[in-house]
Parts: sequence; C-alpha cells; structure tokens
Amino acid sequence: MSELFIEEIAFYIRRHAPEYGISVCSPIIAQAILESAYGKSTLGRNNNFFGLKYREGRCPTANGVINKSGSEQRADGSYVTSDMVWFKFPDMEAGVIGYFDFINTSNYKNLKGIKDPETYLKQLKADGYATSLEYVSNLMHVIKDHNLTRYDKKEESKMKIAINAGHAAVGKGAIGAVGLLNESVEDRVVKDKVVALLRAQGHEVIDCTVDSGTQNAVLNGIISKTNAAKADLNISIHFNSGANRPAKDGKTTGTEVYIYDSNTRCKATAQAIVNAIAGLGFKNRGVKVSKSLAFLKRTKTESILIEVCFVDDGDDAALYNADKVAAAIVVAITGQGTIPSTTENPPAASKKTGNYIVKLKTNLNIRKGPGIQYGINAVAKKGVKYTIVETSGGWGKLKSGLGWINISTSYVTYC
Ligand SMILES: [Zn+2]
Repeated sequence: MSELFIEEIAFYIRRHAPEYGISVCSPIIAQAILESAYGKSTLGRNNNFFGLKYREGRCPTANGVINKSGSEQRADGSYVTSDMVWFKFPDMEAGVIGYFDFINTSNYKNLKGIKDPETYLKQLKADGYATSLEYVSNLMHVIKDHNLTRYDKKEESKMKIAINAGHAAVGKGAIGAVGLLNESVEDRVVKDKVVALLRAQGHEVIDCTVDSGTQNAVLNGIISKTNAAKADLNISIHFNSGANRPAKDGKTTGTEVYIYDSNTRCKATAQAIVNAIAGLGFKNRGVKVSKSLAFLKRTKTESILIEVCFVDDGDDAALYNADKVAAAIVVAITGQGTIPSTTENPPAASKKTGNYIVKLKTNLNIRKGPGIQYGINAVAKKGVKYTIVETSGGWGKLKSGLGWINISTSYVTYC
C-alpha cells in the first residue's frame, strides 16, 4: 500500500512542481511520507500530507480546517504541544497544490530552481517550514529508503500508448450503445482526436481498434493487438448507457473510468482522466475497479477503460464535445497540452449525420478551413440561413463550397 501512496503522490507532485518553479521532487515526496505516515495520519486522511497549518488565504484549494494539537521542537531539543489549526483538502491533488501554494511566498522563494534534495530540505527548514532538529536527516533517510530520487529524473519524454475505440464500426458488426449519441461513432471520433494530439506531442501511439465482427471477435482482436503493442499504457474509449434520461433536466449522468485493480500503477492516470473529463462539466462518477471487463482482465500492461459519458442522457449529449474530451484525456495522460476554452458546444458528431441548417446571429467570415488560422473567402450574412454539410472542432462547412464558418451557438441558431 505504501508504494501505491508514493506512486500517486509523486504523480501529482511531478505534475505541479514545474508550475511553481520547483525543480526537485524527491524531498517533497519524502515530506508527504513522513508528515502523513503514507497518508494514514489524521491530517493525511484529510489530504493534508504536509502538515500545513492554517494561514489565511494561503491555500485556495483547501476546503476547510481541522483543529488538532501539534508539537513543535525548541532549539534546546524540548517539545511544546499546543492546539493548532490545520488545512484540509478535498482530494490528493488539491493537497499537493496546497503545498506548492503554501511555499509560494517570498520567504520560500529561494527554493525555486534547487535541484539537490538535501539543499532543498536545508533551505526549507531554514525558511521556517519545520522546527524538528532532525527534519533534514530524517527526510534524507526516507529518500534513500524508497529510492525517491528516481522521481527527480526527467520524465521519459516519449510514451508508447495503445488505444482503441471499443466496439465495431457502424454497419460492420457488434456496435456499441445507441441513444442520443452513437457510441460506435463517437468512440472513433474521440479516439482519432486523442491519437492525433498524442502524436503531435511526440508520443508513439498504436491504434488497436477493430472495425468489424461479433462482440467476441472485436474484443479478442483488440486484446491481441493491445498485447502485441507492449505499450506503457492501454486506453479503451467507450460511451455509457443505461441512464435513460433523454430529456434535459440540467443534470448529467456523467463520466467514469475503469481499471482492473486498485493497485495498478495507472490508477493516478485514471483518476486524472476522470477528473479532466468531469472538469468539462460532467458529473464525476470516479475511478471504478472491475474484474470482469475483458479488456482490463486480459491485457498484460496498464489498462484504462474510459466511459466518456452517457449516450442516453440529454444533458450528457448536449455537453459532450469530442475536441474537449480528447484534449482532456491527453492532458491527463501526458500533462501536456490545453483544453479548448470555448464555452459553446457544437452539436455532437452523431447528431450531424445529414445536412442541417443554421441561421446567423451576426456576420461571419467564411474561411478556407475550419479555424481562424485559415484565410477569409467571403462574409456570411446575419439573418441568412446556411446549410452545413460537415463539421470540425466547432466549425461547419457550407454546402455552397465557399468555405467554413464558426458554428458556435454564440453566432448561430440551429434551425
Ligand atoms: Zn462500450
């Protein structure tokens, strides 16, 4: 269990340290181990892994305080115990961010850029973080015992990722769930976007999708391709069903992610994925363990099955945006990239089968391609209806062949 705690907390520390100019992770992982007893102390169970005492306004990710006595060591070695107020945090990532926010003040600014673990700890203590006389030497022992300096090595820049869209393609066999969204369509849309984004970041991606066959044939094919790929991480993209709430009621049924075992190394990545998709506005159903899903059971390396959202919930379908979901998955896996910030969602791809008509709320540039980086061909006029025959990332291609317009609901009404 302690190794899993280390893996998880190291994942978040490595993710957020660079944002704060911190260049070494092993001493911070050691602090978490020692200060929270591998997350099992009272403070640790409240996601305060670093003994962070309450300071007004210091840690914006905190969600409250706990009152608990604590002791400090005087210079002569004697201890004094008193009532103290401590931060608490909603989850591990918030607790890690809390640490970095806590030390992101002028008296700790000399920590930035330090690369040597012992130098970091000596400076941290000198800056007033801890009173224990043995603080530095105790933490150096923890670093050595757990070989934590392996987390100071530069992240292996290239990952090898095997990915699949989980069912047969439409018309070719055992397709996925069908509702307001069509799983076999959307899982491919998301998969293709994830593949493109990962490759753009320089990662090696093997597409293990199987397009035709019975459910067993598709699964067997996916599993054998995935095992042959010998990737660092295997991803299967699905959409859920069973909500049976086609009418919009303002509540999504939400997103969830499956792993085979709660001790798998990819648990933190799975958590990051579900958090990132939930961050788009979906209810967070969390990371779930399943011993029965064949993809998880029969693939040999680290595997994650993503259920993006529900095909039969009107709110899920309306919120769903393939570009954002794909970007969220990629940011969660690699820590690189950004999620498009547009607040308007173009209609889901499966609802766009066939042409449809939009009426412009304003004049819009017609561009040579789907994005503002393309040149302008002409201007589409406010109040006029246009037929869209294809969409890409929030842009629609005009039937006239003149080019593409932005089809955000900020600019157009869907007729
Ligand atoms: Zn599925």
